[in-house]
Amino acid sequence: RTKESGRNHYQFYDPEMSLEIAENFALETQLHEAIKNEELILHYQPQINIRTGQVYGVEALVRWNNSKLGLVKPNKFIPLAEKTGLILPMGEWVLKTACQQNKKWQKMGLPPVRVAVNLSAQQLQQPNLIETVENTLESVGLDPRWLELEVTESILMKNTTLASKTLHKLRDMGVYISMDDFGTGYSSLGYLKKFPFDTLKIDQSFVKELNQSPEDISIISAIMTLSRGFNMRVIAEGVENQNQLNLLQQLDCEEMQGYFFSHPLSPEEILKYLLSFNHKKYLSFP
Ligand code: C2E
Ligand code: MG
Ligand code: MG
Ligand code: MG
Repeated sequence: RTKESGRNHYQFYDPEMSLEIAENFALETQLHEAIKNEELILHYQPQINIRTGQVYGVEALVRWNNSKLGLVKPNKFIPLAEKTGLILPMGEWVLKTACQQNKKWQKMGLPPVRVAVNLSAQQLQQPNLIETVENTLESVGLDPRWLELEVTESILMKNTTLASKTLHKLRDMGVYISMDDFGTGYSSLGYLKKFPFDTLKIDQSFVKELNQSPEDISIISAIMTLSRGFNMRVIAEGVENQNQLNLLQQLDCEEMQGYFFSHPLSPEEILKYLLSFNHKKYLSFP
């Protein structure tokens, strides 16, 4: 490695860039170990229907519990995992772990929830993704309707035809498909026709300043209208306060996720949350 980078050293004259490369190299080495050493962990963030007051789903969000770095957020290592191909084993681990966790909750007799798993671009490009999902569900014994797969607009742009075929097959299996960060990508609205989405996830950037922003209100209102035409569900991400909740409710958006309800929680914490929350109606929420 030293020799190699020595030979190409003229490319790395930018000290900041060189530091970044060195950091990434160290990170990459550790990331390899991470999977082997079982340092990855899933946190779960509840998704609430404020009309019924139920937690109907949880989103699985990966964290890397590194002995030196502490709990590392996905934005720090997912891009690197994408670049190195590590995202594939990592993605399979996430899928399996999320399904197993959900099965455990069902066996405990908790009211069933759907578990949402984020897919990466590379995963969606894998010809065997359908098989992987099928095998995972089967080995875990989880009914497909308790799994949701989230994709972003940007990952659909890579190989649209293949992505569309794959997602249709997954949906035919009974798995739910949602479009994450909706409204922020470059895709056209035509994507709504091409892909079999059950759910649109309104990006948190539209929710953030909802109170002071008539523009954001019109965007969300337009998304709600669209969703009715396509018979899709809508969930708002990044709901942090009562004001946003009220406005969203007025716009007929009844599914929500965000810090107002709960941060993403460790498996132990989310279990407590599910045990206590599901027996209450939303209106009794503090
Ligand atoms: P995402 O899928 O859009 O997930 C939502 C992100 O928003 C999460 O960040 C969550 O913690 C955060 N969030 C939730 N509620 C609020 C809120 O009220 N306010 C604010 N400001 N933020 C909120 P996180 O966990 O850091 O994940 C970031 C991104 O990393 C995710 O965005 C997703 O794209 C990606 N990611 C996470 N886990 C996985 C995974 O297992 N596989 C893949 N491929 N990507 C993942
Ligand atoms: Mg997501
Ligand atoms: Mg999102
Ligand atoms: Mg995001």
